[in-house]
Amino acid sequence: LILFSMAPGGVPAAKGSTLEASEPPRAAAAADLPLLGEIEVDGVARLAVRGELSADRARALLAEIRAVATDARARFLPAAPAGLGPIDVCLLSDTRAYQTFLERLLGPRHGENALGLYSPYRRLVAANLSQPLGNLRHELAHALANDALGPLPAWLDEGMASLYNQASRSKAGRLRLGTTYRLDQLRAARASGTLPDLDALARSTAREVYGARSRAFYSLGRFLMLHLDEREQLRPFLKAFVRAPRTAAGQRAVLREFIDWPAFLAWTDTLDPRP
Ligand SMILES: [Zn+2]
Repeated sequence: LILFSMAPGGVPAAKGSTLEASEPPRAAAAADLPLLGEIEVDGVARLAVRGELSADRARALLAEIRAVATDARARFLPAAPAGLGPIDVCLLSDTRAYQTFLERLLGPRHGENALGLYSPYRRLVAANLSQPLGNLRHELAHALANDALGPLPAWLDEGMASLYNQASRSKAGRLRLGTTYRLDQLRAARASGTLPDLDALARSTAREVYGARSRAFYSLGRFLMLHLDEREQLRPFLKAFVRAPRTAAGQRAVLREFIDWPAFLAWTDTLDPRP
C-alpha cells in the first residue's frame, strides 16, 4: 500500500498539490522513536532506522534494510536526486505498538491496515514486525522507487514493491527474489478470466488496482517485473517507462515494446508453485 492522494485518472498527485503537503517534513511520532542506526547506500537518500528493539534485533534489521536498498539500486533503480532529506524507517515490534504509532502519526480512524505503510509526504516507512518481514521490504521499496523514479501508476508501483515481499539474502549479500509469492493469485485470476492484459493494465486506475481485483493486479505487476528482471530488462523498461507519456497509450507502448504477452504467460506456466 502507498499513502498517495489520487488525482482524477488515478495517477498519484504530485507533491505540493494536496493538503497533505502542509504536513511537517519529519513526523513527531517518528522523531520520538529511538534512532537505531543510519544507512547510507550510494544513490539512495539516507535511511534513519528507528524503533524500540533489542540490539541484536536492530542489527539484523539494519542489515536487512541495507540489503533491500543495495539490491534495488543494483537491480533497477537509478540514483535518487541529491539533496533529499532522510527517510524515517520506523519499526514497531507488535500490532499494539504499531497501531499506537499510526494513531499518533495519522490521527484516529485512519483506516490503515496493521502491516506497514509508506507516506511520501512524511518521508516515512513504518512496519509492524509481528507481521512477515516482506511487508517492511515492500514499503521500503515504495519509498526508494518514489525517490528515484517519482510517482508511478498503482499497478507498477505495487508490482515493483511486491518483488520484495519474497526475498532472501544470499551469502554474497544479494537478494534472491522468490517466484512463488502471489503465483497462486496470478493463476487463479487467469483461470477465472479476470487477469488484465497489457492494454487493461495500461489503462488501469488506482481505484481498480486497489479494488475487488487487487490480487490480479498485484500478482500480474509482480510477475511482469520478475520476468523483466530475469531477462535483465527491468532497468531499461523502467527508464523507458518514466520517459513515456503518462497516458494509457504511453504506458501501453512501453509495455508492448518490452513484454511479449504470450511468452510471458508461457514463462509463468513454467514456475514451480511450491515454496
Ligand atoms: Zn504497496
